[in-house]
Amino acid sequence: MEKKKKIVKQIIINPDECNGCRACEAICSAFHATQKYSIANPARSRIYVWWDPLRNLYVPVYGGPYAAAECMGRDKYIIGDKEYDECLFCRAVNCPSRNIFKEPDSGLPLKCDMCENEPPLEEPLCVQVCQVDALKYEEREEEVEEETREEELEIGLKALIDRYGVDNVIDTMVRLSKKEQTS
Ligand code: SF4
Ligand code: SF4
Repeated sequence: MEKKKKIVKQIIINPDECNGCRACEAICSAFHATQKYSIANPARSRIYVWWDPLRNLYVPVYGGPYAAAECMGRDKYIIGDKEYDECLFCRAVNCPSRNIFKEPDSGLPLKCDMCENEPPLEEPLCVQVCQVDALKYEEREEEVEEETREEELEIGLKALIDRYGVDNVIDTMVRLSKKEQTS
């Protein structure tokens, strides 16, 4: 695959600073609402905060690569005086063993897009609203493999087919393309 220089955007997460306020989930879902900021629904957020007050665990994680199947990873990590399950750090969207990073109506995967916007935002919104510096934004230049929009399209189509069946998806696409041609 061809390589090119690209600005890599990254959110550095410090779980020790997170207090579980969930402001990041609210602003992310509001930013991605069909009419921007019209509604905040954390079920549509691309960042999810694992929350276990009894164990003093708050782990923000944002939606990343598509998981076609559940993995075998059940390791545990000890960091400082806290014990974390491996799943807590996993960014996979659409993992069958958990119900996060799935659009509640369509079942489409919810992947973080770093708040793609025109004009670009100075910092992603979840970072801007986090008052305790649990999220930090960084940019760096790197040589990366060229991403293809086709891959993303395939992922979206697969999620729709899993949920509604291939016949329904094809029927809908045919109907939409006819509408497009007549408009
Ligand atoms: S806004 Fe910050 S402190 Fe609040 S839940 Fe999100 S990451 Fe944690
Ligand atoms: S960077 Fe933007 S899209 Fe990604 S989790 Fe944060 S608010 Fe959501």
